[in-house]
Amino acid sequence: MIPYGRQNITQQDIDAVVEVLKSDFLTQGTVVPAFEDRIRSYTGARHAVAVNSGTSALHIACLALGVGPGDSVWTSPISFVASSNCALYCGASVDFVDIELSTYNIDVAALEEKLHDAKKVGKLPKVVIPVHLAGQSCNMEAVHRLGREFGFRIIEDASHAIGATYKGEPVGNCRFSDIAVFSFHPVKIITTGEGGMAVTNDLDLYNRMARLRSHGVTRDPAEMSKVPDGPWYYEQLELGYNYRMTDIQGALGISQMDRLDQYVDERWKVFDQYQDLLKDLDLILPVQLEDTRSALHLFIIRIPPDNRSLGTRNELFERLRTNGIIVNLHYIPIYRQPYYERFGFSPVDFPASEHYYSEAISLPIFPGLTSEQLQYIKEVIVKKQGHQTLF
Ligand SMILES: *Cc1c(COP(=O)(O)O)cnc(C)c1O
Repeated sequence: MIPYGRQNITQQDIDAVVEVLKSDFLTQGTVVPAFEDRIRSYTGARHAVAVNSGTSALHIACLALGVGPGDSVWTSPISFVASSNCALYCGASVDFVDIELSTYNIDVAALEEKLHDAKKVGKLPKVVIPVHLAGQSCNMEAVHRLGREFGFRIIEDASHAIGATYKGEPVGNCRFSDIAVFSFHPVKIITTGEGGMAVTNDLDLYNRMARLRSHGVTRDPAEMSKVPDGPWYYEQLELGYNYRMTDIQGALGISQMDRLDQYVDERWKVFDQYQDLLKDLDLILPVQLEDTRSALHLFIIRIPPDNRSLGTRNELFERLRTNGIIVNLHYIPIYRQPYYERFGFSPVDFPASEHYYSEAISLPIFPGLTSEQLQYIKEVIVKKQGHQTLF
């Protein structure tokens, strides 16, 4: 069986985790701050808040930016539901902006048009969340320019994109955003089992996110409203959560960071082999822009509907699965989810997303995928009929 993605765990990772298990602190020790430092120095962002998932990071990022009832948050429909659920957690409403059919990222022209329309009726978004699909950065310079013009704040959903660059600089340096968010779920680029991180250059946003991660509580006298009763004193200033990452996870994260660049390079080797193996087939291969270097979380192909040589998208999808290649589809447009139907979205408003959804397949990509496995995947793709299942 070949999954679409999987973690890579070394003896170094195991030793790092065991060391924490034998230490005095399994959580709230020194390891999580060290992991945050590691992410700060890698991305160049000034501040980092480690949390227990990418979803938690999105939630506290929205709260820190003041998202609440009456506000609107916009994102891409071609993403995991977490990208928009974070706004709903805050009592805000969600709207979607269609994607571009080259990168499958948010379409900046569609965003601009929608902003002009929203301005006329006084319904501009408070926050826009561009999602770096498959690890390739959105056109952040353009989104940032629109943010200045229309007065919205920006959270990058970089769950797929740690290790990627945009205009030669690391994704997550927040040059064109207020906050960027990473996920360390095992299918992502590096893992902590579950885990996430929010990074920012803004000290106030950092302080708010750090508090929200831990019940809204502060131990800093400068933030307190009363005179401390004694050395035990702390104050809850707002309604926060327990979104803390454990030191066990932090240790795995630090150890994984040692191999982040290597992981991305290995994903690029798989990418290059796919390009070579699939270039003559009747498929649409992923487009990489000049000013981005993707972290290659996903390798998405599209099967044009008039394709005769490989079968339909659904046939190809099933053929791959029955032959042990656990392909996937990233993602079902979020507005199609039953829970989202109550908001009254109409698929006709998102023609590119619908088009994408009818054609896409995510092929396996992860460090350690072998040339033999890639060759086998190609054989299953080209063998339209009669390929017996080997699994
Ligand atoms: C994985 C993912 C998330 C959520 O991250 P978790 O760590 O699983 O909570 C959010 N957005 C996108 C685009 C993701 O792929």
